[in-house]
Amino acid sequence: MTPQSVPYPHLLNPLDLGFTTLPNRVLMGSMHTGLEDGRKHFPAMAAFFAERARGGVGLMVTGGFAPNIAGWTKPFAGMLASSGAARRHREVTDAVHAEGGRIALQILHTGRYGYHPFCVAPSRIQSPISPFTPRELSARGIERQIRAFVRCALLAREAGYDGVEIMGSEGYLINQFLATHTNQRRDDWGGSYENRMRLPVEIVRRVREAVGPDFILIYRLSMIDLIPDGSSWPEAVALAKAVTQAGATILNTGIGWHEARVPTIATSVPRGAFASVTQTMRRALRDAGLTIPLVASNRINTPEVAEQVLADGCADLVSLARPLLADPEFVRKAAAGRPQAINTCIACNQACLDHAFKAQLATCLVNPRAARETVLVQRPARQRRRVAVVGAGPAGLAAACTLAERGHAVDLFDSAAEIGGQFNLARRVPGKEEFSETLRYFGQRLQSAGVVLHLNTRATAGLLVAGDYDRVLLATGVTPRDPKIPGQDLPHVLSYLDVLLQRKPVGDKVAVIGAGGIGFDVAEFLVTPPGASPTMHLSEWRAEWGVADPAEVRGGVVPPRPAAPARQVVLLQRKTGKLGKGLGKTTGWIHRAALQMKQVEMIGGVNYERITPQGLFVTHGEKRLDGQLIECDTVVLCAGQVPLRELLEPLRASGVATDLIGGADEANELDAKRAIDQGTRIALALE
Ligand code: NAP
Ligand code: SF4
Repeated sequence: MTPQSVPYPHLLNPLDLGFTTLPNRVLMGSMHTGLEDGRKHFPAMAAFFAERARGGVGLMVTGGFAPNIAGWTKPFAGMLASSGAARRHREVTDAVHAEGGRIALQILHTGRYGYHPFCVAPSRIQSPISPFTPRELSARGIERQIRAFVRCALLAREAGYDGVEIMGSEGYLINQFLATHTNQRRDDWGGSYENRMRLPVEIVRRVREAVGPDFILIYRLSMIDLIPDGSSWPEAVALAKAVTQAGATILNTGIGWHEARVPTIATSVPRGAFASVTQTMRRALRDAGLTIPLVASNRINTPEVAEQVLADGCADLVSLARPLLADPEFVRKAAAGRPQAINTCIACNQACLDHAFKAQLATCLVNPRAARETVLVQRPARQRRRVAVVGAGPAGLAAACTLAERGHAVDLFDSAAEIGGQFNLARRVPGKEEFSETLRYFGQRLQSAGVVLHLNTRATAGLLVAGDYDRVLLATGVTPRDPKIPGQDLPHVLSYLDVLLQRKPVGDKVAVIGAGGIGFDVAEFLVTPPGASPTMHLSEWRAEWGVADPAEVRGGVVPPRPAAPARQVVLLQRKTGKLGKGLGKTTGWIHRAALQMKQVEMIGGVNYERITPQGLFVTHGEKRLDGQLIECDTVVLCAGQVPLRELLEPLRASGVATDLIGGADEANELDAKRAIDQGTRIALALE
């Protein structure tokens, strides 16, 4: 390839750090997968990072390891505080180096975010996201924390790491010292900003002194706190200068404290939404004559976006975390000029962050092998079999591709004109456009694996029996549940399919029956004016969530200014309690807040008595009291789904080996994570 034809020239440009050269500008950001929290997971962690090193990432950062017990994320969480522990890390660093990669260990002290009774903080102020009140550190206690950071960095070096990242953002201990919100000390560690920033500067200075000059030291600096009394811009710049002078090699960008009420990485956040913050910091440092490389972060999920961020001079490197869970070969595919083959992270959080916050091992919705590399191994088939897969939704697509890649002959049938199944609903929801990327990925994967695709083809039992297949996988999905409400046949009653797929006209006042994932999606669709999806317009998204330029407003937050809703919507469920309780752990609050901003009325504990031309008549509670007519022009049914599996019996009766996968197997609480995982596993297991 000639230099001119190198794809993504900025992204793939090596970076000379003086004592070592990174092969490209991709830094794999730290992610807590749960593999850190137990020595039994170390072989899996080694395989996880080795696969990503093989995929060509320039530099990787591990999930957070506490430097001492006080810094644990939760009881017995990953910690590096002894030579014994360092020896165990050798398995990881050796595996990465054998693939030619580089890896840094993240030192994470959670401070008052620690989910355990030994947590500490600058002041005795409980965080809104932990039930534990921290102990206030004495001056000697602070010195002990600094020594713990230094010891951890030395042990990381002993363990073979190429560097460390000091976690100074996201509202963890170091951030807690910086902000007056959490630091109300009157000694040398509180009060003036100079005092409040002493902790990070001391840590960086003493770590650098201990590890020597030829060890990568990344400092993750909160550039926009997104809390009302977070750091001011001059404070953030002063800190950046001070840690650079104290010996940091690279500055990474931290966006928002965990307790911030602004989404920072969810799918509805526009791509590259925060790159300009790093750009402003980079300019300030360059103006001061400091050339330290800066890393831009958050919602950079394609090589195109990454290249643009770098070409625009926003940063010297880009941090990709979840995108490398989704596709360990991201860099290699980009370098080979095959971006369309990348399995793009859709920022759903469903299998990564949601798992981490539920203390489960993380993985990835679109890549079930992530953090399961030693378990889900794709081997060539022993014998080529003829397999029919019916249904090209997430389960069927995952199964068909995996089977064909293993060497089986696969026919994939779908009655629709396009692949995607339920993903074709999701991608039409404002703020969920990323779901289209998964269909692009599967589309090209089907083609390169040689799956024979039969669209617009309703596979009948007769067709499948005549096909003489060795195996049939029914991924026929789901059909809307009939809620059997009197009056539901009236013309102003629509199903979610009518609204999202058929785009049938909907009135100005709407009642949505059912507040599961689809009820919430439909409500979002109905209140958003056409062409005004939150991911499409950065300035509108910022206004909607109250995000400001941190160089102008302390903490980068202002009161939200949401646009007027396109319609008046009432969202209902029969259960009592908060609506949307079953939504994602880390994204449910965003969906709820988005609808509240659009003045959606949410009512639980109702009985649907009847639908009339005037609207929906409901009563409340078990005794069916307080009858109420919810006046509306349209009622939309989102009452869940039931499996669609009419082919099962005739096929089994004809002696055809048949399995159900995805929604056809289990519609209750069906989601794409389970569907793709099940489709992949059954395809890996077929002999
Ligand atoms: P769902 O999450 O199971 O919700 C079904 C809703 O219908 C519930 O609110 C339920 O609440 C109501 N319902 C159930 N039976 C009813 C009946 N007979 N009459 C009236 N209402 C009834 O199903 P979904 O919304 O169709 O979503 C399907 C799956 O897709 C979900 O499991 C979800 O994981 C996934 N999904 C997730 C998201 C997301 O996380 N953002 C978005 C879309 C889809 P009551 O029983 O209390 O009335
Ligand atoms: Fe991205 Fe969703 Fe996978 Fe997490 S689970 S890495 S957010 S696609």
